[in-house]
Amino acid sequence: MNGLMKNEGIAGTERFASPGKGRGLRAVKHFAVGDLVFACPAYSYVLTVNERGAHCEYCFTRKEGLSKCGKCKQAYYCEIDCQKGDWPMHKLECTAMCSYGENWCPETVRLVARIIMKQKVTTERTQSERLLLLSEFEAHLDKLDSEKNEMNQTDIAALHHFYSRHIDFPDDQTLTVLFGQVNCNGFTIEDEELSHLGSAVFPDVALMNHSCSPNVIVTYKGTVAEVRAVQDIQPGDEVFNSYIDLLYPTDDRNERLRDSYFFTCVCNECATRSKDGGKMALQKLSSPPQPEEVRKMVHYARNVIEEFRRAKHYKTPSDLLEICELSQEKMSSIFADTNVYVLHMMYQAMGVCLYMQDWDGAMSYGEKIIHPYSVHYPAYSLNVASMYLKLGRLYLGLERKTQGVKALRKAIAIMEVAHGKDHHYVAEVKQEVEELK
Ligand SMILES: [Zn+2]
Ligand SMILES: [Zn+2]
Ligand SMILES: [Zn+2]
Repeated sequence: MNGLMKNEGIAGTERFASPGKGRGLRAVKHFAVGDLVFACPAYSYVLTVNERGAHCEYCFTRKEGLSKCGKCKQAYYCEIDCQKGDWPMHKLECTAMCSYGENWCPETVRLVARIIMKQKVTTERTQSERLLLLSEFEAHLDKLDSEKNEMNQTDIAALHHFYSRHIDFPDDQTLTVLFGQVNCNGFTIEDEELSHLGSAVFPDVALMNHSCSPNVIVTYKGTVAEVRAVQDIQPGDEVFNSYIDLLYPTDDRNERLRDSYFFTCVCNECATRSKDGGKMALQKLSSPPQPEEVRKMVHYARNVIEEFRRAKHYKTPSDLLEICELSQEKMSSIFADTNVYVLHMMYQAMGVCLYMQDWDGAMSYGEKIIHPYSVHYPAYSLNVASMYLKLGRLYLGLERKTQGVKALRKAIAIMEVAHGKDHHYVAEVKQEVEELK
């Protein structure tokens, strides 16, 4: 059944030369909203360190009572078959994890180690590369600045340091290309609340070009990527995914795209900038702020976002909350509460509250975020769905059942399209609603 569906999916699409964009993916049949366009098993993947024990390292199943690897006691599996299946990859890390302790190696390096091992044993085109081979990935090495080049070299050094006992490496130039390819074409696997679960490569998924008004969404079922239509797609239409968080205004999105993917987007949203006004909403004051004041505040906002991103790695939760609160206060002299820069800091503050188990704090941030989110993001958005989900679960925890059920139903409505009606995440949320009756 599953296999059939996947074949139907890939049969509905083809690789083509997209004008101005290089290769791309095109529909050869009609897809309605919610239809599976195709599924793609991961070529290689790795579970993130923080999710150890909560997910099976091999199949990514989330459940209680997973059993430990007897040797390192750090990798967890649902059953012996998963442990056996994972061994060719886990053996690269089993002893190293013990000797180097926690956060021992960057996740990209762990992923690249697995790709090298997979390449050694792979002789035929894999099920993940039906339209695009991993070896065809762009590396964009000519476009890297010195900082990115240095990061690549640091990663290569780490690869040698942690894995030299287990892998015969290709030469440094080949490794540089591989890291470049993975940096531009890698995916992060996230759960239904958008928590980071791991990193992976899905070559056929990477074939899709970017649009800020994408007609598909990528979700994950274990280590399989599933691509579903979120707009009506006609035969001949190009299939577009979004590579970035779509919350931000056009200039910010394109800065991000140029920095990470080395292109500027020319989608309809970027051409019309139809949502930029709302995203940059200003306070309704008796005398409106001068353009220069607004420019200065945008500059401040971008800096504080970057400052916070770095501070997350070393500051205490209460210090982080303070950055959020002070910056919101400063921005509120010019920006409305629905402004995306204010929302960004509220979202970060909500994350810190969740981390500190301050449920009331998290809930009140969530309540401020959810409505502007549903305006700024496209109709079917994982960011909006996950916010309804977090908020709904917070309401239920705080015994506010009516509001909880309402929020969870909103999440379900989006997830039934983005994840598919039969996804276990959808079943789980429905179960949470059912239990309240
Ligand atoms: Zn498993
Ligand atoms: Zn082990
Ligand atoms: Zn765009």
